[in-house]
Amino acid sequence: MSRYAAIQAQFKHSPATWLVTGTAGFIGSNLLEKLLLLDQRVVGLDNFSTGHRRNLDAVRALVTPAQWARFRFIEGDVCALDVCQAACAGVDCVLHHAALGSVPRSLDHPLRSHASNVDGFMHMLVAAREAGVKRFVFASSSSVYGDHPGLPKIEDAIGRPLSPYAATKRIDEIYADVFRRCYQLPVVGLRYFNVFGPRQDPNGAYAAVIPKWFAAMRDGGAVTINGDGRTSRDFCYIENVVQANLLAVAAAAPQELPPVFNVACGESTTLLELHARMSELLDTLAPQSKVPPPAFQPERAGDVRHSLASIELARTRLGFEPTHRLAEGLRLTLAALPGVSGGASVVTQR
Ligand code: NAD
Repeated sequence: MSRYAAIQAQFKHSPATWLVTGTAGFIGSNLLEKLLLLDQRVVGLDNFSTGHRRNLDAVRALVTPAQWARFRFIEGDVCALDVCQAACAGVDCVLHHAALGSVPRSLDHPLRSHASNVDGFMHMLVAAREAGVKRFVFASSSSVYGDHPGLPKIEDAIGRPLSPYAATKRIDEIYADVFRRCYQLPVVGLRYFNVFGPRQDPNGAYAAVIPKWFAAMRDGGAVTINGDGRTSRDFCYIENVVQANLLAVAAAAPQELPPVFNVACGESTTLLELHARMSELLDTLAPQSKVPPPAFQPERAGDVRHSLASIELARTRLGFEPTHRLAEGLRLTLAALPGVSGGASVVTQR
């Protein structure tokens, strides 16, 4: 039995109370789904700035009424300390995911990103410490590697941040480490690399590449590649991220763990390769969609050229092993897309 399977069985037998911030968002709602399926009690906190009620409704449809009854939702902002304090009361484990994502958004609105991602983060650390939580896991980002040229990315070799978003995540890591050392708060950071999967928002100027491209391709539209298409990323299916969160909570002796772990598949894919794979899948699952060739435009400011993770640290210290590679993740993501044969009614296997 894998470490992940073992800890899921363990959680199922000993329910705890969890706080998932950003629970109406993409990653938060997937964490909520897994925790409820494991019969946990969950408090959700979200201000719907980028998240949606429909994500909570989708989770409700995937769990039993008894499991849903163990969920309590607070509509509120992590920028208010009293909201964070109320949300943390009586909680065993915090999975902090509320933040404003997207490099371009942070370049357009640096103050907003700072408020949610840094002030909100500090409030959550303070509230979690006061409440005496047993574990605090938070979402950091591969963007903290910034201009460091090394590949694959190794946790302790980071460069200068290339955007306000990257700076906010780096500041979070610094504060988390300080709270570990000064207050013995059991904090673990997870540096996510380009996560994708069901319920990721395809809409808006700041949408991530995979949901945006699938939605455009389904409707027969051309997608736009920023740069020459040779920019590469380590795309990570959501189930691997859910796994990393549960492993980070289950790991013994948090004070002896490294402060932060890469969470990815450890595989490099260029945007041109991604486009080809997605087009092929569309041909199979939705043959009525005719995918035109991509258009190209200049690279975006603040983007790193190549991003590829070493996941050795998470493997050796947490027992992390990705269960879903890119091809399987893309298939499940497309199958869950409304308008695709079986789309939106497909229950992903987790
Ligand atoms: P998302 O936008 O879908 O979810 C974020 C959620 O946080 C949203 O529901 C939003 O409404 C909520 N939120 C934002 N500011 C808030 C505030 N001030 N108070 C309360 N709620 C607030 O994004 P996601 O992709 O699910 O990202 C979740 C976390 O993972 C974020 O911290 C993000 O920076 C991090 N991350 C994501 C990726 C990725 O590829 N998706 C990569 C690296 C890091």
